[in-house]
Amino acid sequence: MMTKLKIAVQKSGRLSEDSLKLIKECGIKFNNGRGTLKAEASNFPIEFLFLRDDDIPGYVEDGIADLGIVGENVLVEKSKGLDINKRLGFSKCRLSLAVPKSENYTDINYFEGKNIATSYPNLLQKYLDEKGINADIHEISGSVEIAPGIGLAEGVCDIVSSGSTLFMNGLKEVEVIFKSEAVLISSPDMPADKKEILNKLIFRIDSVLNSKNNKYILLNAPNDKVEEIIEILPGMRSPTVLPLAQEGWSSLHSVINEDEFWDRIEKLKDAGAEGILVVPIEKMIQ
Ligand code: ATP
Ligand code: ZN
Repeated sequence: MMTKLKIAVQKSGRLSEDSLKLIKECGIKFNNGRGTLKAEASNFPIEFLFLRDDDIPGYVEDGIADLGIVGENVLVEKSKGLDINKRLGFSKCRLSLAVPKSENYTDINYFEGKNIATSYPNLLQKYLDEKGINADIHEISGSVEIAPGIGLAEGVCDIVSSGSTLFMNGLKEVEVIFKSEAVLISSPDMPADKKEILNKLIFRIDSVLNSKNNKYILLNAPNDKVEEIIEILPGMRSPTVLPLAQEGWSSLHSVINEDEFWDRIEKLKDAGAEGILVVPIEKMIQ
């Protein structure tokens, strides 16, 4: 029988859509009817298991799945001996402590002797230990933000992205204890034949992630400015320079990183670049 990888992804929630989108961008085709538990790719040796995110590290540890996509917050909370193969750059969020808006919070000592509600008791305990704070942790599995309002706890430790959920519940974020994003995880002892498929998958994921961080840029410049512009445009190797039909002008093509994009564009204009076009890259193989 042909070796296949089993990958566990969240059935429905904040990780699901982006996890499946990434898989599709890797050129992997599959059908997942709503509510199905399993699906099989038609053009890559991989099978999907759709599960609750909290169960994913456990299933990977037990070998029911070879791989999983989870939030780093869940991975660390469950503290299984699993490897992070790749940070995936989506579902970015933070785990934070929050208190009622009306409280006069100055520092972490505020929590000494207090009750804190959370779904992440291990991550929170570790943080409090590091800070030398003794507090009572109340583990609850959902709607943590309502705990102060119903008198269950004085503070909460919960996932935050914009802070609007906290705000709507009369809370303010006071300490960030952990920063998280989606990660691809696997068991450290994967057999060689599966490892080979995993490496192929990671190669594809890298190409997709690289392409998202880079843009293809085309511009025109007078020949006497080309050298100066090449200095601003490093590219993967060096830019392509092509003559334009108009005498004395060239077209330059290169790849530019999203982070340095605006800074470089200004420098390029100052150096005499014209007709600058910036286009997305679908895949970038390195
Ligand atoms: P399940 O039903 O699978 O147990 P859940 O309700 O526990 O789902 P979700 O709310 O779907 O979990 O969140 C899944 C993961 O997405 C979280 O563990 C976290 O890593 C990330 N996440 C949570 N909230 C946000 C947010 N507001 N923005 C971005 N990422 C988030
Ligand atoms: Zn969950």
